Amino acid sequence: MPDAANPSPIAPTASSRLWTAGASGGVATLVLLGVAILHPHHAPVLLAGVAAVVAATWMVNRARPSGEAAPVVHLAQPMTSTPVASAPDGALLDAAFEALSDAVLVISGGEPDDIAGRRIVLANKAARDLLRIQRDGAILVSVLRDPAVLEAVDEALFGGIERSVDWSGVRDRHWKAQVRPLDQGGDRALAVLVLRDDTDVRRMELMRVDFLANASHELRTPLASLSGFIETLKGHAKDDPKARDRFLDIMSAQADRMGRLVADLLSLSRIELNEHIPPSGRVDLPRAVSDVVDALSVLTQEKGVEVVVVGDATAPVRGDRDEIVQVVQNLIDNAVKYSPRGGRIDVEVRAGVSADQATAPCMEGASRLPLLTPDHDPARRHAAVIVRDRGPGLEREHLPRLTERFYRVEGQKSGGDRPGTGLGLAIVKHIVNRHRGGLAVESAPGQGTVFTAFFPLADAPDAAG
Ligand code: ATP
Ligand code: MG
Repeated sequence: MPDAANPSPIAPTASSRLWTAGASGGVATLVLLGVAILHPHHAPVLLAGVAAVVAATWMVNRARPSGEAAPVVHLAQPMTSTPVASAPDGALLDAAFEALSDAVLVISGGEPDDIAGRRIVLANKAARDLLRIQRDGAILVSVLRDPAVLEAVDEALFGGIERSVDWSGVRDRHWKAQVRPLDQGGDRALAVLVLRDDTDVRRMELMRVDFLANASHELRTPLASLSGFIETLKGHAKDDPKARDRFLDIMSAQADRMGRLVADLLSLSRIELNEHIPPSGRVDLPRAVSDVVDALSVLTQEKGVEVVVVGDATAPVRGDRDEIVQVVQNLIDNAVKYSPRGGRIDVEVRAGVSADQATAPCMEGASRLPLLTPDHDPARRHAAVIVRDRGPGLEREHLPRLTERFYRVEGQKSGGDRPGTGLGLAIVKHIVNRHRGGLAVESAPGQGTVFTAFFPLADAPDAAG
């Protein structure tokens, strides 16, 4: 019977073709038989005609469907997205499935109340590596035990529900598990499970929340103090010019602090935005140092601090001038801020050093910690700026946290006049990272602190690339 399924919505169905051809053949046969009975002398010719009509009807019913089927199947295949593909396409699909970076698994259901019935019928390489799947048909619960994911799989298999759940199963990373029913036309319940590494997205989200909380907290304090002073000035200090002047000074300092905080936050976000783009300019490090020392001279003179600059006269590094100046400025600014009155600060520029030479110890008995280390390349040469003060120094436990945003060592005096925002070293770290350089700290309580920042030399062969 030519009743093969015909998926085309516009082609006639097989049964209608059978009816048309069969009915016409039948009527013709009956007419010929009737004439043969009425005119027996013509019977042989008429019976031959009947035989011809029957043969023709049979031929039509056999030949037509196969003749029409070819273009219909051809058109219908892509429309119904039949998974049956020709051999090369199948191989291509397999290769693409294997190459996906997300872990993808196809799971079959078995009996709804038999948890061991969920089997992995297909898993790409990422899934096999992630879940250490050794063989075909592995039981799902033996490789993935998270109840939330298993429940989502069951809902997809037996409820036809698509879901996305969090999974924190392997390698201390966070994953998003997306489960979707897979309708294959058969009576087997199937679902597809995709595991996507969500760690970086989550970390960014946490950082953002943390950052916003810290930033608003930092702004709230000076803002609250400003409002307090305004109230006082409107109230009992209204007619006290001495108190008014004192309060206005404090208010101006608070407003300055808020301004610095906002400027630092903007600068941090701008640097972060460009952090993945290596800078292309060329900066002479000793020149940047002397510019900063000149710019800070009012401050150093005010505090009676002497800044002594030594080292190489030229050291061209690959970098963004404003950013390199900001690094040097933040380091020297800290040294000034945390130096005792009348203290001395040494700033040294060393060109042509390796990363290890740049961060070689220079204070006896001090704790030393790299805060940022560039990719290891013994051939690469750097220029380093080393800033040493004789301030209070830092306990070892503080060193790893110095470049965290808003981190300040509690109880430490910064001269009192300019309380910091705790963003200076975070900015330094981001800039140095963008420049593929390094940062280290060495400190001993009571002896002082040494910060070293180094950048790849512009002339080094690998720095040019
Ligand atoms: P900002 O630089 O944003 O005005 P800040 O100086 O407080 O504020 P950072 O430069 O990030 O912030 O420094 C973080 C903390 O590290 C400081 O609050 C201080 O406690 C400590 N610190 C930094 N440099 C020194 C130093 N040279 N000597 C002693 N402590 C330091
Ligand atoms: Mg600072």
